[in-house]
Amino acid sequence: MTPPYSGQVQPIVVIGGGFAGLSTALGISRLHPRPAVVLIEPRDRFVFVPLLYELMSGELKGWEVAPDYASLLEGRGISHLRDRVSSVDLDSSTITTASGQALHYSQLVMATGARPDDFGIPGVREHALHFHTLTDLQPLQERLQELRRHPSGSSSLVIAGAGATGVELACKVVDLLNGAASVQLIELGDQILPRSKAFNREQAEKALHKRGVTIHLNTKVESVSETSVMLSGQQGTRELHHDGLVWTAGSRPTLPDLSPSMELHRGRVPVTAALRLSAYPNVLALGDIAVDPEGDELTSWPHSAQAAIQQGQFAARELQAKLRHEDSKSFIFKDLGEMLSLGIGDATITGLGLTLAGPLAFKLRRLTYLTRLPGLSLGLRAAGAWLVSP
Ligand SMILES: Cc1cc2nc3c(=O)[nH]c(=O)nc-3n(C[C@H](O)[C@H](O)[C@H](O)COP(=O)(O)OP(=O)(O)OC[C@H]3O[C@@H](n4cnc5c(N)ncnc54)[C@H](O)[C@@H]3O)c2cc1C
Repeated sequence: MTPPYSGQVQPIVVIGGGFAGLSTALGISRLHPRPAVVLIEPRDRFVFVPLLYELMSGELKGWEVAPDYASLLEGRGISHLRDRVSSVDLDSSTITTASGQALHYSQLVMATGARPDDFGIPGVREHALHFHTLTDLQPLQERLQELRRHPSGSSSLVIAGAGATGVELACKVVDLLNGAASVQLIELGDQILPRSKAFNREQAEKALHKRGVTIHLNTKVESVSETSVMLSGQQGTRELHHDGLVWTAGSRPTLPDLSPSMELHRGRVPVTAALRLSAYPNVLALGDIAVDPEGDELTSWPHSAQAAIQQGQFAARELQAKLRHEDSKSFIFKDLGEMLSLGIGDATITGLGLTLAGPLAFKLRRLTYLTRLPGLSLGLRAAGAWLVSP
């Protein structure tokens, strides 16, 4: 067995086992010699959220989309602490967990992701459904079932936010509702999918149009009640009835308490080119919580699974460089393209050297995500299931 790095007295601690944190931990587990690493993640399952739509529709099974950490980390020398980090003392390099444990780290990777942001809009917290994690699925599925049980020409499901999640969800729920209710999509900006590739936006517009989704552009949600949503736009304010409102209109980072507190940039943790905190170089921040303070919304890396995975892989190399007393490198995001799910059996892809829409794009999207699923043996099992499915 190769001995650990000389002088590594405290472990590397990774907070959050999502795309960025899990990629970091798996990357570290492949290093020789392998440094001691602790992954702190309260959940027992990793959730491959880009496939949440297919889980909701029953096109994929839970084990394909949400493998458990025990099997993902088996034999990789990673200690999984099932706990939530409540605070990080940056000066003493100590973290404290919700269960009261204190841990010292040599290097820290913060990758705690984001959660939906209601921007303080009245009623969203109390009345909106979400589509962000595994636990959001059941309430949404129950609402769809309820609407299907009592089909009515006047029932309406409203989705706030026409970014990728809102658009993909709208297509999927229309297919699942099968005419039981109409679907309305509300967007503050003047177009859907503002950050998407033109081809994908066009395909998404066609898919929404084909499914009869009503799109309200330049429209702001002012407040939400149990049965209605107050909207404002160029024509003033108006009230729209709803039988379910799904909030996909924004997210903000989920951060433990940091001491000393730090100034956020555009609501996220500013990092150096090496994804480190400038005042605490033994701390990296990755994924949805991090932001490049030099870039803007359009020029810096996106907040996506793709960027989070690349950052996790970069972080593992960066941690190794630090242990070897080598210089830091700069993270460069490589855009591998964009894939959108557009209803049952349908998708659009721009990237991988092609632009493609329809059932073939749907199959290719599933296969591509499969190769990105962490844990090869599990991936191969999933491949088998997908390849034989009709
Ligand atoms: C429905 C949906 C569809 C999406 N589809 C795509 C897509 O098709 N392509 C794409 O590139 N991106 C997609 N995204 C975006 C992508 O999922 C995120 O950008 C990505 O998950 C960010 O990775 P992360 O590691 O920063 O955070 P996450 O993957 O969210 O992981 C954060 C982890 O940290 C844990 N955690 C949080 N707080 C603590 C704490 N205090 N202590 C310990 N652990 C903690 C959480 O339990 C979680 O497991 C989608 C997002 C959603 C919601």
